[in-house]
Amino acid sequence: MTATNHVLAGALLGAYLPLPVAIPAALASHFVMDFLPHFGSPAHERNNSRFYREIIAADTLISLTFGFCALLLNQWVLFICGAIAYSPDVALVRYYISRGGNLNIQATDRFTAWHLKIQHEYPWGLIVELPLIVVMLPLFITQLLNKL
Ligand SMILES: [Zn+2]
Repeated sequence: MTATNHVLAGALLGAYLPLPVAIPAALASHFVMDFLPHFGSPAHERNNSRFYREIIAADTLISLTFGFCALLLNQWVLFICGAIAYSPDVALVRYYISRGGNLNIQATDRFTAWHLKIQHEYPWGLIVELPLIVVMLPLFITQLLNKL
């Protein structure tokens, strides 16, 4: 699942659930969303796919922008729950960076092996991701501005 959808789902869980419950719910949302069919390319094709790289770059910028908006508006619960919802993918980012930008991510530990195994990634997965963004983004913006 894109970072954008992970961050939006986590932030909304933080907005709608009481805080003690929102944190594990945000973490659990990551794995539920990764299990749903979503955007991706076959691992061995990712390094050579300009489209995949562009989607990942845009996704990174958009999700970071949402996080910074939450921070700038002092919406700490939205920021923290969004970050927690994204956090399992930090291991994949660490792999990507440590391998000089290699998107063909391989499991280096049991957690990553399981994390990669539950993915259901397809090039057509954007038709799942985009409606999620369309539904969650207005709710996120509303929550962001509601709590000012
Ligand atoms: Zn993940």
